[in-house]
Amino acid sequence: MTGIVVIGAGQAGSSLVAELRKQGFEGDLTLIGAEPVPPYQRPPLSKGYLLGEMALERLFLRPESFYEEQGVSLRLGAEVSSIDPSAKTVTVAGDVICYEQLALTTGSVPRRLPASIGGDLQGVFVVRTLQDVDAMAASFTDGARVLIVGGGYIGLEAAAVASKLGVHVTLVEMADRILQRVAAPETSDYFRALHTSHGVDIREGVGLDRLLGEGQVTAAALTDGTQLDVDFVIVGVGIAPDTQLAEGAGLEIDNGIAVDALGRTSDPAIWAAGDCSSFPYRGGRLRLESVPNAIDQAECVARNMLGGSEEYVPKPWFWSDQYDVKLQIAGLNTGYDRIITRPGDGQSVSFWYYQGDALLAVDAMNDPRGYMIGKRLIEAGKSPDPGVVADPGVDLKALLKA
Ligand SMILES: Cc1cc2nc3c(=O)[nH]c(=O)nc-3n(C[C@H](O)[C@H](O)[C@H](O)COP(=O)(O)OP(=O)(O)OC[C@H]3O[C@@H](n4cnc5c(N)ncnc54)[C@H](O)[C@@H]3O)c2cc1C
Repeated sequence: MTGIVVIGAGQAGSSLVAELRKQGFEGDLTLIGAEPVPPYQRPPLSKGYLLGEMALERLFLRPESFYEEQGVSLRLGAEVSSIDPSAKTVTVAGDVICYEQLALTTGSVPRRLPASIGGDLQGVFVVRTLQDVDAMAASFTDGARVLIVGGGYIGLEAAAVASKLGVHVTLVEMADRILQRVAAPETSDYFRALHTSHGVDIREGVGLDRLLGEGQVTAAALTDGTQLDVDFVIVGVGIAPDTQLAEGAGLEIDNGIAVDALGRTSDPAIWAAGDCSSFPYRGGRLRLESVPNAIDQAECVARNMLGGSEEYVPKPWFWSDQYDVKLQIAGLNTGYDRIITRPGDGQSVSFWYYQGDALLAVDAMNDPRGYMIGKRLIEAGKSPDPGVVADPGVDLKALLKA
């Protein structure tokens, strides 16, 4: 059997097969996933699903019947162990499957704490898969004590859920401030204040030295010499692109599986999309870890696999939900040299990232209008005068016409 094989049944893999069929591809199509469930959305894993407010069925991106109706052979609980690019085959659970074209949508893997500092103790969790979250759910009991390691979005979202469920939360961030890698100090300040107001104990510039316990984690020693009693630990210290298969197949790797502007890897019959891939961007390479990127890039790759010649141009946006605050981010803030604050009512505010006179990105908190207009301006390459943006009396919509 030959045709198209897609490895990785997540956000990008699901979008890729759907787009192939939408574009009229009628050949054999196989989607292989290591997880035992059909493709699902991950964002609720650290938000509504973890909180218990979202049912399992609502996580699935498409009903399982979709794949059958579309003639997609969906193999779940099946981890591909190797690719042979010269024979154009993949090996999964002892079966060898042939392909004409192959797409890798293998996502990323969470960084874990080494066993030498207690990373393998029971009660130490990461937040990547449904299985991870189901495993930690029982620990979220009223009065339990959790240590969250890492003050990025995943750690902060988990902190918000835990605190809402009555868990005592301590969050340590090794860097000087939470969100340091991804946001301006203004955004860090906003979320620090928000969490502190909900009783979360945020400790910045403090790392984890080691976790302690006999089998089960019971305490944590921090780098500032303090020791905390804990019932469980959530590790949110970042992810790495899952390049294992690609490396084994000899594909070029450069902060992810390196693809060209069309999404093709260093092997002309193999493509990649989503978290696992890095693509050309403004003279360098970029890898994005977000749902919109996974969908848009996968759809673009699908069209190119069918003979298209569409260069992938990302339109970055992201969101995070914490308590009753929705953060929406448009653009990429890399290289910013100043922040313009646009005040709003109550908890609503937006921070506008500029490099010189050029608008790069917007972080909007409970300000969907600021986000939407910022996004449209960035996508149109328009940079409004910072003084105007900072004036809450100016109707932002007028900026779009300028
Ligand atoms: C808790 C959490 C919250 C998030 N919140 C947000 C958010 O608010 N907004 C946002 O934009 N993004 C968010 N993200 C990021 C977003 O979910 C990812 O960017 C997106 O899922 C990437 O899609 P993907 O298809 O590239 O990878 P994935 O969805 O990770 O799918 C990859 C799949 O490939 C499978 N796989 C890997 N290797 C093999 C193999 N050898 N054989 C078979 N299968 C294999 C994996 O098991 C996995 O199922 C969040 C992520 C997490 C974990």
